[in-house]
Amino acid sequence: MKSLENSYLTLPSLFYSYVKPATFPQVKLLAFHHLLAFELGWSDFLESTSEEIAAYLTGRPSITPLPTPPIALAYAGHQFGHFVEQLGDGRAMVLGTRKDRQGRARDLVLKGAGQTPFSRRGDGRCPLGPALREYVVSEAMHALKIPSTRALAVVLTGEKVLREVGTVPGAVITRVAFSHIRFGSFEYFAHRKDYVALKLLSDYCIERYYPELLQVSLPLRYLEFFKMVAKRTLSLVAKWMRVGFIHGVMNTDNMLVSGETIDFGPCAFMDEYKSGQVFSSIDQGGRYAYNNQGRIAIWNLACLASALIPLIDQEEKRAEWLLNEELSRCSLLFEEFWLKEMACKFGIFNPKTSDVLLVREFLALLEKHQVDFTLGFRGLMGGESAWGGPQYALFLEKWRERLQEQGRSLEEVFQLMNENNPRVIARNHVVEKCIALATAGDLSLFHRLSRVLADPYSYSCAYTLEEENEMFLKPPTSEDRVYKTFCGT
Ligand code: AMP
Ligand code: MG
Repeated sequence: MKSLENSYLTLPSLFYSYVKPATFPQVKLLAFHHLLAFELGWSDFLESTSEEIAAYLTGRPSITPLPTPPIALAYAGHQFGHFVEQLGDGRAMVLGTRKDRQGRARDLVLKGAGQTPFSRRGDGRCPLGPALREYVVSEAMHALKIPSTRALAVVLTGEKVLREVGTVPGAVITRVAFSHIRFGSFEYFAHRKDYVALKLLSDYCIERYYPELLQVSLPLRYLEFFKMVAKRTLSLVAKWMRVGFIHGVMNTDNMLVSGETIDFGPCAFMDEYKSGQVFSSIDQGGRYAYNNQGRIAIWNLACLASALIPLIDQEEKRAEWLLNEELSRCSLLFEEFWLKEMACKFGIFNPKTSDVLLVREFLALLEKHQVDFTLGFRGLMGGESAWGGPQYALFLEKWRERLQEQGRSLEEVFQLMNENNPRVIARNHVVEKCIALATAGDLSLFHRLSRVLADPYSYSCAYTLEEENEMFLKPPTSEDRVYKTFCGT
């Protein structure tokens, strides 16, 4: 298992701290994503025993030592609108980077493997619940074709971790991502006025994530870099909206320059549609509500823009002007991405501006009649009309007219809708149930849920048990419903 590098080590040491993984009483491999290991071209893993994998993925390989020392990355961030100048990986460490089968460099990060110099008062540990939650939801996002960090493994540490609810089993999750550079990584150096480091960081990102920009002359390259990050970020959030995903903690330290979804603390998929839905127990003002996510993405991009000012132009005023120009385009860009994503749900191939009204009309009906977001859209495919009364019938008429206008076959329309309206999502009450059972030692639901969520668009009732259909497809009953989610760090 030696084939691991660490490209972050090419950066000066102020970007990170070396860390030593904790020693754990008794590690045990709980979940391992064989397909992802295969994708990473990691044949050593596929031939290893679960004991060897568990040891490696807690940072303490039993046979050969780690090829590179683990590091915790430094970053700052705006949390709920307030700047915190030093955050950093307090319970995560980069084990290394590795080229996957397609030659793309992927980061391997252990979360919960021990304290780091950035831990502050935290214990550097991760309870089993949040580890499983990240595993299930990040993999569900990936299967929904939404850029996301991935989950390679969950290892039980044998330790008990103390949290508000009492002591819970500790775990280490291995996260795989194209990047772990956050908007907050730029804010960290900008705040310290270390513009040399800021430039090095930008160059690292351009070379690794946006190599096509190397052809752009300097300093224009950095403005183009910002534009690329903005595009990916806004496109990502539009995709979240398509599946009713609420991230819950869109702080700038949780936004990656690669545009992958990261941090699955208080996140949730909506059941019944509510435009202002919030789940997170700590989001009391609704800052990260469902329908505010586009605006917040732009707010976060403004933080990134502000950090990049020194690189954009020697004249600060001109740099600000250039970045403001780009920021002012972001709302429209997001609207475009949003409309494209939403239009697909209605089988519309090339949306036009007036389609916004159609989409909004349907969403308003869902909200008025308290209809489940996922099932409401699937019902559209089945021509279901029971819930909406005459207004819904009117909507259906308009929608059908619109479909006729585009001159596509019904088959094509259905295919597009099928590819964009999942049948099954990681419903909160099921995820919670899965975590509760797993914490008590029963992993059966975790495995079943993972299997079902791996194929969310073509999940077929015909091949599954009646009881599974009941559990995975249906919205929660009033007793099952989860109203609040907790970071549970
Ligand atoms: P998060 O809310 O997960 O985005 O984390 C925000 C910050 O708190 C990051 O710097 C984390 O590394 C840190 N943090 C969260 N939980 C812990 C913990 N149990 N031990 C140490 N640091 C933590
Ligand atoms: Mg975080």
